[in-house]
Amino acid sequence: MQKKDTKKYDFDVAVIGAGPAGIMAACAAARQGLSVVLIEKNSALGKKLLLTGNGRCNLTNSEFNLKELVKNYNNGGFLFHAFSVFGPKEVIDFFEGLEVKTKTEKDKRVFPRSDDAEEVLEALTDYLSDKKIKMFFASEVVGVSCKDKKIIKIILKDKEIKAKKYVLCTGGKSYPLIGSDGFGYKLAEKMGHTIVKPRPALSPIIIKEGWVKNLQGISLKDIKITVFQNRKKQLQEEGEILFTHFGMSGPAVLNISGKVGDLLEKGEIKICIDLFPLLDQEELLKELEDILRKYPNKTAKNILSIFVPERLAEVLLDIATIDKTEIANNISKIKRATIVKILKNIEVTAEDILGFDQAIVTRGGVSLKEIDHNTMKSKIIDNLFFAGEIIDVDGKTGGFNLQMCWSTGYTAGKSCE
Ligand SMILES: Cc1cc2nc3c(=O)[nH]c(=O)nc-3n(C[C@H](O)[C@H](O)[C@H](O)COP(=O)(O)OP(=O)(O)OC[C@H]3O[C@@H](n4cnc5c(N)ncnc54)[C@H](O)[C@@H]3O)c2cc1C
Repeated sequence: MQKKDTKKYDFDVAVIGAGPAGIMAACAAARQGLSVVLIEKNSALGKKLLLTGNGRCNLTNSEFNLKELVKNYNNGGFLFHAFSVFGPKEVIDFFEGLEVKTKTEKDKRVFPRSDDAEEVLEALTDYLSDKKIKMFFASEVVGVSCKDKKIIKIILKDKEIKAKKYVLCTGGKSYPLIGSDGFGYKLAEKMGHTIVKPRPALSPIIIKEGWVKNLQGISLKDIKITVFQNRKKQLQEEGEILFTHFGMSGPAVLNISGKVGDLLEKGEIKICIDLFPLLDQEELLKELEDILRKYPNKTAKNILSIFVPERLAEVLLDIATIDKTEIANNISKIKRATIVKILKNIEVTAEDILGFDQAIVTRGGVSLKEIDHNTMKSKIIDNLFFAGEIIDVDGKTGGFNLQMCWSTGYTAGKSCE
């Protein structure tokens, strides 16, 4: 345990930003007996945390194989050490230790058993208070004073704070109205750090084809989407998609959106949707022909509605230029092949992705080249650490982003000793 130098410093550690990363950093530092202040510009804790997982808080993902876990991130290799110290298993144990019972759902998504983000926030609030962490709310850090590669003090609107060490956890730029407006990047830049251009990620994709708006609200499970640029395959994802009035959303679409945003800077993007990834064209044709034989007098629209929702069936027949009222018996071999082709490959054009207001996370941030992955310590400023979304790492949906915050927050807080 370190002795507090009360003359020179107000605290051993000042954590800036009380999101998940900052809360965990403060907890990890305080666990070592350090005096800690947690500074938050909002008037209360956990505004974003309460929104996570649609209010259910997808706390982590029970992918315990770390080599697999890091594959769910952009720049995931950087996190390997932090995960090996405080990975999904440790996060689940941590919350269970705080009496938050957890459960694991589809795709290894871990939630509180109560399905209530409020329970997670309450447990963390109690823990912060148990550990006697000083909390300043409605306190915005507006500047920083540095000398000889060290932070001397941080400047708030109404006071200044001196600490031995500082952890910057101000998040990214997504959902700016609830706190994270990118100011942390400016602070880091002022101290000499390089910021990899922040871009929205986990954000819905705007689709050029007008017919998508007719599909608004249709959600489809177990779909494969493949992204092409200049006819070259760029990435692929499987899972749920959701059509909206402007384009597409849903976990599979959100997961590719960050990369789609990057690719769009270089040119046009086509997304191919395979509605039946588990069947090849031949198998699907056989299924279609079985149905056509079974219902020889049904219309093309009614036949296709056996495979997909009715509104989608209509759109698909329009794209295939097949008359919706055509009777099953009369659908030619060529038209049958066209139907199968379209069920396996609907092509849409990505126009853009929605901006930071809608993006669940930010891609980009403080360059990883300037952060020690073992400690989260800045390689530029001796007494500065980073944690959470502010760094240039972003994950897929499924609890991966919060896991990254818990792990980097823990590592940074622990390294403040
Ligand atoms: C709607 C939504 C749902 C989500 N659901 C999930 C989910 O279920 N599972 C998952 O893994 N991830 C989810 N995420 C992502 C996850 O919430 C973020 O990755 C995570 O909150 C980032 O944590 P952070 O602590 O790095 O930053 P933030 O949570 O953004 O916290 C940063 C904090 O710093 C404060 N701050 C900023 N600037 C200053 C300043 N100058 N002075 C003082 N304080 C400052 C902000 O007010 C804010 O409270 C979701 C995100 C959103 C938007």
